[in-house]
Amino acid sequence: LHLVYQPVFDLRSGEVLGVEALTRWQHPDRGTIPPDRFIPIAEESDLIVELGTWILDEAIRQVVSWRDAGLELVMGVNVSTRQLEQEDFVDVVQQLLAKHGAPPTQLLLELTESVLVADLDEVGQRLNVLRALGIRVAIDDFGTGYASMSYLSRLPVDVVKIDHSFVRRLGSDSTDSALVRSVIDLAATLGLGTVAEGVERVDQMETLQRLQCQTAQGYLLSAPVEPAAVPVLARASRINALVAGF
Ligand code: C2E
Ligand code: CA
Ligand code: CA
Repeated sequence: LHLVYQPVFDLRSGEVLGVEALTRWQHPDRGTIPPDRFIPIAEESDLIVELGTWILDEAIRQVVSWRDAGLELVMGVNVSTRQLEQEDFVDVVQQLLAKHGAPPTQLLLELTESVLVADLDEVGQRLNVLRALGIRVAIDDFGTGYASMSYLSRLPVDVVKIDHSFVRRLGSDSTDSALVRSVIDLAATLGLGTVAEGVERVDQMETLQRLQCQTAQGYLLSAPVEPAAVPVLARASRINALVAGF
């Protein structure tokens, strides 16, 4: 198993602000197996807990190694419901941050809305402890699950990730454009950050910029890349942002 990283770009400056860690399984015979194939299977047992801890450990180690090289990025890590349900989840995260000497503010935990809707009391409390430590929480794939728009105000999160299914239909379907606009506006009102996922075309990016979505990721900007490529992309984006600022 290894992790690849997809850069997340500031839609105003073009700078890389962070990355999302995505797990890959390099199988000796079958080649690269995508996470959609093995994560759901791991989630059926407690294997996902062990796997998830390894992923967190590796992602935090990586963000600290970039930090030591003078590059500060926010590291987004996908977290499964079963991980969050573990009583010691907060302790595990804290221990891993301490082990690597990572600032909590550089960690962003990505959770799907089903986690949050399932048992908001218990999970919400745990998330509030994490957030009090400075760790940030994102609601992933927003719009695909059960959470209604009005529910957003009650979720203990810092960032909303707008699902690529809405981004894909931006422009061609006015209902989806209206929906994306509403999510961005509501997030802004609530003081939450916004990330658009799966941006593949220039017109989608321009629409998102017009709607004042803060950040985006997608093949147009960069596919997930090996760790060595991240500093190169991030530095190039910073130089571009500086030049554009003059
Ligand atoms: P996700 O969290 O929604 O991750 C984004 C997925 O969209 C990634 O697929 C990414 O490669 C893909 N993507 C990025 N840009 C584009 C684009 O422009 N167009 C399209 N069509 N797709 C794009 P990936 O890496 O195959 O991951 C799939 C899902 O597997 C993730 O969805 C996440 O739910 C899960 N996953 C991946 N890594 C982990 C992990 O470490 N832990 C857990 N619990 N789940 C993971
Ligand atoms: Ca994600
Ligand atoms: Ca997502």
